[in-house]
Amino acid sequence: MTAELIDGKAFAAALRGRIATAVAALRAEHGITPGLAVVLVGEDPASSVYVRSKGKATVEVGMEGFQHRLSAEAPQEELLALIARLNDDPAVNGILVQLPLPRHMDEAAVINAIAPEKDVDGFTVLNAGRLATGQKAMVPCTPLGCLMLLRDRLGSLAGKDALVIGRSNIVGKPMAQLLLADSATVTVAHSRTRDLPDLCRRADIVVAAVGRARFVQGDWIKPGATVIDVGINRTGDGLVGDVDFDAVREVAGAITPVPGGVGPMTIACLLANTLTATARANGLPEPEGLTP
Ligand code: NAD
Repeated sequence: MTAELIDGKAFAAALRGRIATAVAALRAEHGITPGLAVVLVGEDPASSVYVRSKGKATVEVGMEGFQHRLSAEAPQEELLALIARLNDDPAVNGILVQLPLPRHMDEAAVINAIAPEKDVDGFTVLNAGRLATGQKAMVPCTPLGCLMLLRDRLGSLAGKDALVIGRSNIVGKPMAQLLLADSATVTVAHSRTRDLPDLCRRADIVVAAVGRARFVQGDWIKPGATVIDVGINRTGDGLVGDVDFDAVREVAGAITPVPGGVGPMTIACLLANTLTATARANGLPEPEGLTP
């Protein structure tokens, strides 16, 4: 069996199209343009690329993009003061502070300074807590994108055995919460997990967010399983995921490629969250299909 490819690029393009339509309607009917502020501290090359592509995507759907750059040596107080200004700025509906931050900064303190209703990355403790307790939250973009792809492929996730590999705050943990909220039976594996291949073989859904190139092997996969590869690893052969794509493809029922799977969904979901935040800020109905 050769797995069906889950085309995240096409799904994300369609999602961005729907967002652009909703943004145009917001402007025409209410005179509102959603605004997303992206803050970059320092000159990390990968972060600069991410920030540029986020800015471009924002403008492409008709939103306003605000970019703020601070030097790598900027004191934390300067960043906190900027976040406070953005929290108070009515033209800004979403705030994203690009991670990682320079070492002299306290990442948790910085993230938690973002107003929860503008926290379009969903990383503040308030939004993490809301997600964990089933309340309306801003949901982290990457797991939200994975959930959309899974629902599109499988319909209901109720009762499915789901294995999330990785327990980071930005991918693994919120992914597990989202799957649980959709009534999957969720196992979270991590660096200290024993017999990962065996756990994997029982899973109808595998979400790999490990950060190790081609880590998940073909003979770990239950035939017909749906495999979502979050990994982005730069290797001598270019960008590869956390899944051994060629081998897993022969066993799985469906799989996301890298690139062209989860990656494009992350930015599309950032725009989705910005639109949702704008609707909530203005007391307007939230566009459908953008939140869990
Ligand atoms: P992280 O380093 O914070 O977390 C990695 C997790 O993998 C940890 O929880 C760790 O316990 C687990 N792990 C490590 N070794 C393991 C092992 N041998 N067995 C089982 N688990 C193990 O990484 P992250 O931020 O969650 O990102 C994971 C991957 O996803 C990275 O490749 C990253 O680049 C990628 N990523 C992609 C997107 C996207 O938009 N596609 C977004 C975020 C992260």
